[in-house]
Amino acid sequence: MQLFDSEYFTYKENKLFCENVSLEKIAQEVATPVFVYSKKFMIDRYKELNNAFENIPHKIYYACKANYNINIIKLFNDLGAGIDVNSAGEFYRSLKAGANPKNLIFSGVGKTKDEIELVLENELKLIKAESYGEIELINSIAKKLGKIAPIAIRVNPNVDPATHPYISTGLAENKFGIDETTAIEIFTKAAKLGNIQLLGIDMHIGSQITKIEPYIEAAEKLVKLVEELKAKGISLTHIDLGGGMGIKYLDEKPFTAKEYADAVIPILKKTDCEIFIEPGRYLTANSGCLLSEVLYVKNNLDKNFIIADAAMTELLRPSIYKAYHHIQPVNISINEEFTADIVGPVCESGDFLGKHRKIKKVKPNDLLAVMSAGAYGMVMASNYNARLKPAEVLVDNEKFYIIRKRETLEQLVQNEFLI
Ligand SMILES: *Cc1c(COP(=O)(O)O)cnc(C)c1O
Repeated sequence: MQLFDSEYFTYKENKLFCENVSLEKIAQEVATPVFVYSKKFMIDRYKELNNAFENIPHKIYYACKANYNINIIKLFNDLGAGIDVNSAGEFYRSLKAGANPKNLIFSGVGKTKDEIELVLENELKLIKAESYGEIELINSIAKKLGKIAPIAIRVNPNVDPATHPYISTGLAENKFGIDETTAIEIFTKAAKLGNIQLLGIDMHIGSQITKIEPYIEAAEKLVKLVEELKAKGISLTHIDLGGGMGIKYLDEKPFTAKEYADAVIPILKKTDCEIFIEPGRYLTANSGCLLSEVLYVKNNLDKNFIIADAAMTELLRPSIYKAYHHIQPVNISINEEFTADIVGPVCESGDFLGKHRKIKKVKPNDLLAVMSAGAYGMVMASNYNARLKPAEVLVDNEKFYIIRKRETLEQLVQNEFLI
């Protein structure tokens, strides 16, 4: 069977380690299912991206929806990143993690009045508006609070990011942003409002993008808009390229940070704007694995099933996007192999982690590592079937820390009352 190629998850004497901690040890001490993250991975990826853009004024905003444990937000905040938040909840988490509101930017197609009020009262850096209606609402709330709201406008550049349709966001048919044809008109109208300060132009064309061309095309469109706006007397201070950089789940060959920077910097340099980048998956996905124990192995009509203690409630991506996560045993001293579906205990046929996988012949109590689970894993975990949300562990060289305890049965009903 193929093993996932990673310098952060490696086998030592046939046992899988995260950095220098044995996953077997984590399973023994914390139990399963548990998300395990490598701290070094996240630091390395942040630095790689930051260095790639060193020749142009820039700032990385970590899109914390990918993994918003407050320790992960703190890690990127401490490295010097800003944080991109999508809701009052993510804003609150970022403040709890110790982030300065002046480093927080707020995205989202449906911000509520309460959310806008909360972030303006806390003097965040920037709201990224997605419609004229929203801009008017921000203006009126800012007026009421006696403030000037710093905003950018998200433009939908209508490029095809060639990714899964559910995670493409920059096509004309998607709900995000303002279409490129009316952008100038909306910027011009917004510039006349009294309690708005127009700072930037923003895009986010999709996720898990492995080709560089859509970014080049979109960056060219944004630069053109920035130049047209300047000619009309509207000077912007930043261009936000959004996130979406693709990663390797198995055999993908995504562009590197350096290739990305080298492709877009010459285009962006034509303006004197600061560049914002908002990666989520790129900084976290391959930092993590979901560690799970095999409960049963069975055979139905010649089909093998490995029933694991992790399910769609821990990792939803296979069920909703048919996403591929490589799955491998923690102990690979087993010789025999077979082909099996790896499924969870949830009462849904859509509850699977991997289908038709060639894998070592594991047995009950063996451990499995579901790879690339550091992004859009725990944040999508649910309590369906009244399952307890799993624990999270951060590994730092030969030490590991529980950064979220497993939920308890009491917590499942804590907000309910018998009437
Ligand atoms: C989701 C999102 C991101 C991060 O996307 P990744 O694919 O994880 O890099 C960045 N910006 C915005 C506005 C988003 O919605």
